[in-house]
Amino acid sequence: MTRLSPHFTLEEMVASQTAARLGLDNTPPREMMATLKRTAQLLEEVRTLLGGRPVLVSSGYRSPAVNRAVGGAQNSAHMLGCAADFSCPSFGPPLEICRTIARSAIAFDQVIHEFRAWVHIAWAPSPRRMVLTIDAAGTRLGLS
Ligand SMILES: [Zn+2]
Repeated sequence: MTRLSPHFTLEEMVASQTAARLGLDNTPPREMMATLKRTAQLLEEVRTLLGGRPVLVSSGYRSPAVNRAVGGAQNSAHMLGCAADFSCPSFGPPLEICRTIARSAIAFDQVIHEFRAWVHIAWAPSPRRMVLTIDAAGTRLGLS
């Protein structure tokens, strides 16, 4: 097991049911390790904000093939290793998590409330603190 931060491992950041099912390689390039550590750091900030409750990562790094297979955005931050999808059931529903992060001082680039089922968070060198909602109706600014 390779620890990226006190509570997050490389293994959970690259685990992909889709990759396993389709036999796709989801190994990040070696030079991405520093980026993945920064993503884990962002998740540590979120974990602390949520009262130290377990943050369950459902998707972190995605190789281009895995990103295509899951229908990810063409320029997805997941392919750069800068993004993670997660939930924190012991804190509350994804909408409540998004609101809490949006109100915090965390320097995120994007927080997206996705399909009312999970939270997407990404960082960038110049964080925009952009808050979006994506669901069957499309993509829009703000939380709903
Ligand atoms: Zn995502």
